[in-house]
Amino acid sequence: MGFIICCDFDGTVTTKDTIVSIMKRFVPDESAPIIRQILADDISVQEGVTRLFALIPTALKEDIIDYAVNEIPVRQGFQELLDFARAEDIPFYIVSGGMHFFIDPILSRFRGVTEVFANDVDMSGDYMAVNWSHPCDEACDSQACGTCKPSILRAVNHEASDVIVIGDSLTDRLAAHEAALLFTTDKLTDYAEDHDLAFYPFETFDDITIQLKEVMK
Ligand SMILES: [Mg+2]
Ligand SMILES: [Zn+2]
Repeated sequence: MGFIICCDFDGTVTTKDTIVSIMKRFVPDESAPIIRQILADDISVQEGVTRLFALIPTALKEDIIDYAVNEIPVRQGFQELLDFARAEDIPFYIVSGGMHFFIDPILSRFRGVTEVFANDVDMSGDYMAVNWSHPCDEACDSQACGTCKPSILRAVNHEASDVIVIGDSLTDRLAAHEAALLFTTDKLTDYAEDHDLAFYPFETFDDITIQLKEVMK
């Protein structure tokens, strides 16, 4: 039995949340109350993020891509972990509640991602409209994930491989419960501690590569 890697994007591949950074840069005043409501759990991530992108004129698409590519830092060691996964024949999936239009350009600098699961944005109107491309399947207990990471894993993991989950926040918690190996940073570390999940904390992708080399030798 092999492994697959399920790696979050925002706050995991990147060192800060790309959506929040984009909102603060392009629509700071209008987005702030919505971000507060999401963080306070007053509205769902799906509803909040839909409302956030609806603030952004589609004419700003290229400016946002430029900003994402040039201003959003990627965590140290990402290419080296991709190289390790490829050498070990471990599929590397990016599973994100973010948007393809800014994730894919950031990832284009790196080699070895097997597939990116994220959301599309309809740019045909004056303002951005998020298409939630990966809803909950029937087996999901939440039915309110926005982007349902466990459903994506069920769809992709045909061979019942052990799943290596890498993430930073509560949007990774359902996937974390299904992980054979769990790597956490930030809020997901607190969650894993509180729920007695076995986990390895990380700061850089080098930490993960070193640990995986130990596990796999
Ligand atoms: Mg994240
Ligand atoms: Zn779900």
